Formats: sequence, C-alpha cells, structure tokens
Amino acid sequence: MREALLGRTREELKELLRARDPKPYRAHQLFEALHRRRIVDLRAATDLPLPLREALAAEYVITDVEVADVFQASDGTRRYLLRLRDGVRIESVWIPEPYADTICLSTQAGCPLACQFCMTARLGLLRNLEAGEIVAQAWLILNDLYGPEAKPKRGLNLVLMGMGEPLLNYENVMKAIRLFCDSRGMNISQRRITLSTAGVVPRIRRLATEPIRPELAISLAATTNALRDQLMPINRRWPLEELLAACRAYPLRRNEWISFEYVMLEGINDGEEDARRLIRLLRGIRAKVNVIPYNPAPELPFASSPESRIARFQQILRAAGIPTFIRRPRGREIAAACGQLAARQREDLAALLTPS
Ligand code: SF4
Repeated sequence: MREALLGRTREELKELLRARDPKPYRAHQLFEALHRRRIVDLRAATDLPLPLREALAAEYVITDVEVADVFQASDGTRRYLLRLRDGVRIESVWIPEPYADTICLSTQAGCPLACQFCMTARLGLLRNLEAGEIVAQAWLILNDLYGPEAKPKRGLNLVLMGMGEPLLNYENVMKAIRLFCDSRGMNISQRRITLSTAGVVPRIRRLATEPIRPELAISLAATTNALRDQLMPINRRWPLEELLAACRAYPLRRNEWISFEYVMLEGINDGEEDARRLIRLLRGIRAKVNVIPYNPAPELPFASSPESRIARFQQILRAAGIPTFIRRPRGREIAAACGQLAARQREDLAALLTPS
C-alpha cells in the first residue's frame, strides 16, 4: 500500500525528496501544493518537474483517508463518516456559522475515557489517529465543499472536540496543529483552534509550554467530585481540585479565556446549586462557560434539561460576571452534536466497530 504524504512536515518532505531532488525549495513547493492548494492528484503539483511528480505519484498517495458517507442536516451542518486505511471509521463535522465556519475534528478512533453521557465512549479506544489522519479530515471537508485549489470563502475555526481525548494522543495532535498553522500551508491561526479535554492534568501543564498551542476548553459536566467521578471517570485520577489548579496556573495570552463546556443533564447537574458551585470553582480563572443542552440518545439514561432551567443556570453565572453562552446543538437530526459523534444509531456503532 502506498504511503500518504499528508501529515508530513516540510522537514520530513525535505528528507523524503533528498534522494530525488535535493533542492531545498522543492519540499516547500510540495508542502504548499498539498496543504494550501489541496491538490488531489500529485501530477497537479505543477511547480515540481514532471518526472519528480510522476515518481512521487508512483510511490505515494496524498491521503489514505476517504469519505465514506456524508449526512446533511437542515441547518447546514454536515457530518462526515470517514474511512481510514485499515477500515476503521471516524467522524468529523462541518458547522456553518454566521461569521465563520467550524470543523470539528476527531483525534482518536473511539475513546478510552468512559464519559457516561457520550456515545463515542461506547466504542472504547480503537486507536490513536496519526497527524495525517487528523489533517486529512479538514482537507477532505474543505475539498468537498470548495473543491481543490479553492480558498475557503470565510474564516475557519477548528475544534478538537470530535471522537477521542486529544491529550491522550498528544504528539500526533500537536503535530497536526503545527501543520494546520504552517504559514506555507493552511495557515490557520493557533487562536482559531480549540482543543477540548476531559482533564488530563499533566498534559494540560505540558500544553502550556508549547510555542504553538490551541485555545483550551475543559469538558466539566459536574461541580462536585462525587458526581464527576460518576459522569467522567477520569475525575477519579485527576479530581476537580487538581484540574482547576492546572487551569489557574495555565498562562493565558491576551484576550484568551479557558472555555468550560458544561453539558446539561436534567435533574443531575442543572440545578441552581450547581451553578453557584460552578461560580466558586471558577474563581481566579479567566473563564467562560458554554452550556450545552444535552442531545438525548435512546441508549443513554439522560434527558435534556428544560429550556427554563438552562436559562436560569446561565442567568446565575452571568450575574456573577462569568460570560456564559448556550450552545444550541447543531445537526441534531444527523447526530452531529457534541459528544454524540459515532454510533448515534446502532447500525452506525456496528459499522464503526467493523473494519471493512
Ligand atoms: S466526551 Fe470526549 S473524552 Fe469523554 S468519552 Fe466522549 S469522546 Fe471521550
């Protein structure tokens, strides 16, 4: 099977080209063709001499990730089911918004964490995604929407909130982020990339030291250790005090906030007391809160909080000066909402678990 080129840094491409054409600018030309122009055929990399293009095309593919299916919701959201070279499937979501568009990327196939409200958790971890497989998600979606060689028409945000815990696939995720940000490639600002974690505390500390790093979001879901231990078992390893201490110590840039994602589960974490505890927990952190109305799934024992309760929760936080937003679930009918990727329907689950 031919290896993929997407996912290699310019240095790695330089190394790959060394024996064929050692001119240092060849790697930059190839990188630009792959990432900025998003060519789909290596022969279209017309900056490169024809024999080099042909040699590369004989030995490599651009990406070995394929679009297996696309589901379009009435609000414009598109859910992509993608097939990896070993047959494993993952999902990504395109979310058009008024001023910019967002692509939600997966970082693992399945997930080893067992968050109780999440459908992906039911898959367990199939495997980590390689950097090229993370980059390919955005690459395939942009090509599907705009076609190769065409620039996105509007601003683009990337959120690492799809399948998987990004900080448990640290090296590949950071490499993909550096590739996205490369000025010769997609040239996406690091401030337009958001990484959401369930709370892998040592890796949050490590992320803080990276010269290029995304914005940080924490999936919180509970305000006591007792409840969070149940809803998000990772809390037993790194409880709320440790997680929030890492957030407090996180060096924020100008105009940077840590986002706290709070999925609202009726009668479980959506009371006024929860809101008040959350205010106390977030003291000393430049925080904003995204309240996420839960998108019910028949397989899971949770219900969506009533609108009035969600509004009250927001009101209490706002009154305490915490910017709080209600994130309306997008693409509900195609199961594209946060934490619900993959396996929203039983047949999807079967498909995802069965390499083809
Ligand atoms: S919510 Fe995120 S971290 Fe938790 S199981 Fe689902 S994919 Fe994994």
